[in-house]
Amino acid sequence: MRALLASTLMLFAALPARADFTSCVAGLRSHALGQGISASVFDHAMSGVQPDMKIIEAMGAQPEFKTPIWDYLATLVDDEKVAQGRALLRQHASTLARIEQAYGVDRHAVVAVWGVESDFGQVPGRWYLPQALSTAACFGTRRREFFRGELVSTLKIIQRGDLSQDKLKGSWAGAFGHTQFIPSTYLRLAVDFDGDGRRDLVDSIPDALASTANYLKKSGWIPGARWGYEVAIPSGYSGPSGRTGKQAVGFWSGKGITKIDGSALTSLPAAGLLLPAGRNGPAFLVTKNFDAAYAYNAAESYALAISVLSDRLRGGPGVQGDWPTDDRGLSRAERKQLQERLTARGYDVGKPDGAIGALTRAAIKDVEAKLGMPQTGRAGGKVFDALR
Ligand code: CA
Repeated sequence: MRALLASTLMLFAALPARADFTSCVAGLRSHALGQGISASVFDHAMSGVQPDMKIIEAMGAQPEFKTPIWDYLATLVDDEKVAQGRALLRQHASTLARIEQAYGVDRHAVVAVWGVESDFGQVPGRWYLPQALSTAACFGTRRREFFRGELVSTLKIIQRGDLSQDKLKGSWAGAFGHTQFIPSTYLRLAVDFDGDGRRDLVDSIPDALASTANYLKKSGWIPGARWGYEVAIPSGYSGPSGRTGKQAVGFWSGKGITKIDGSALTSLPAAGLLLPAGRNGPAFLVTKNFDAAYAYNAAESYALAISVLSDRLRGGPGVQGDWPTDDRGLSRAERKQLQERLTARGYDVGKPDGAIGALTRAAIKDVEAKLGMPQTGRAGGKVFDALR
């Protein structure tokens, strides 16, 4: 009885009163109308919308552990993604040529962003944006004003006729479409490239790819330059490092740094020395074009995934140096196989799809214990090999 009461109270605490939402939406409505949104656009978009507390849970969720860079790259840059990306480069070659001409941005970088952001448009949006953003604006534990602004931006997209509201499905935070722009970014940087008068980043691949190029251009992309390349640093190197500490190539040559194959550094704009796993891991000289990819998601690991994928799409080999680990990251195909091996041992990990969720992590921890391995719950090469 006490347990039942406690769980009822918890449920009550987790569910805001309906009246609270109604009065909050009334406040959002007057704010939106003050920003130039018509009453009919607001009322139609918000018709029948109820708050969903799963959105607030998602806002507060912390990752279980920091993903090592080699896992992150193995997940985002694998043979499957490279093959898909190359096929799409051929399929959209003429559009991409026009985009390169208009924005000066390398087509391989554009397609790499597409692949990493939405798996080339294959990631379906889960949330109706007005629902997600109004829930976050009314009940979020932080940044309510930000989400209110994103709701208004969403309504502006509808009001301009860029998209109909049934297309507005995205992440709980409002990222949607091929490029995973949030609505305010959409308003600022989306372009109409197929000439139909609408900026459609959900159903128009030319609009989506050109908008990505526009984003990279506005983030400082240098036309015709590379993002950088992998280098070798002398053992015992103690000079400067860091993405933002940019120097001329001659400075780095003077420190004994070479290309990864040992040859002399070749021409690059000013570059920083990126050591994503410290001095004992792979090293890269990175230019402002790396920073343009960084601007998309404010993480060096993300920018490295875009950069390495763009090289592989061009036919390059990917990262050559060894990561400082004896437990390598797994490709999507290997992660699927790992899930199949766990299923064969009687674990319920859902449908083997290569996406590592809570069920797979729990199964890995359990099987690691049975095999006498440290319990990490991480889908890495060691547990993959042990289950072979
Ligand atoms: Ca268009």
